[in-house]
Amino acid sequence: MSTSIPSTTTSAAGPLTELDQWDDFIEGRYREGKSETEFRIYDASAMPGVAEFYRLNHEGQTVDYVLQKEKEYFGLNKGMKTIWEAAEFLNTLVDDSDPDTDLTQIEHLLQTSEAIRRDNRPRWMVLTGFLHDLGKCLCLYGEPQWGVVGDTFPVGCAWSDAIVFSEYFAGNPDKQVPAYQSKYGIYEPNCGLENVHMSFGHDGYIAEVMKPYMPIEALYMLRFHSFYPWHRHGAYAHLTNEQDRAMLDWVLKFNQYDLYSKGHAKPDLKQLKPYYDELFAEFLPERVAW
Ligand code: FE
Ligand code: FE
Repeated sequence: MSTSIPSTTTSAAGPLTELDQWDDFIEGRYREGKSETEFRIYDASAMPGVAEFYRLNHEGQTVDYVLQKEKEYFGLNKGMKTIWEAAEFLNTLVDDSDPDTDLTQIEHLLQTSEAIRRDNRPRWMVLTGFLHDLGKCLCLYGEPQWGVVGDTFPVGCAWSDAIVFSEYFAGNPDKQVPAYQSKYGIYEPNCGLENVHMSFGHDGYIAEVMKPYMPIEALYMLRFHSFYPWHRHGAYAHLTNEQDRAMLDWVLKFNQYDLYSKGHAKPDLKQLKPYYDELFAEFLPERVAW
């Protein structure tokens, strides 16, 4: 199957000036040493674009929306691509911000994976670093920013107030559905996160793509890397099971690299490519279904 990589650049439509503005916001929010109270000072007036992005996200991520997107994407019927093809495809997502200070999407992936590699973490974790944001190609399939990035959270049960800008859930139609508003909602106590429908985004999508190939620790890192309410704030413990609790530590380990690997020197793709060719071949078939 041939993969056509568009020659034109595509930018993600939405209130963020660039997709990475959300990542930068998260990084600022969790800057090391910052307290929960300082985290709370973020408000709409300080960051209108980011606030508007969260409003759209919190109002749009309904149970119906999530089930429909899972049906649309989790069947992996968008074609076969190698990892390099997927990465180059993602790189066509170009934001109109300062090209001197901003990393390309591939550079963010490589900075994350190289930081993991420098710490002598297992090879599957280095690979996970490279893969973790490839799901942002959802933007190139026409999904809005708010359906691709943003902190994730369970749908179909009460929203935790540990979710940033949780006041915007007031405008979510699920607010009017009593069955979705109780503590457990549509779930059983401690049913395990694998039985929970998360708000739709790049995390869930890449985890689905990699499910046949990667160890469970990696799948947790992929699926839940933006589930800050859980891994940073301890929310939703009533839905988690023993496996989730065992995996939490890996998700937290991974999060350090995702958040804080920026700022290192720009990775040299040409020099690194042979290492990654070998790494991809160790765990993945040449082409995977997207
Ligand atoms: Fe991400
Ligand atoms: Fe990332």
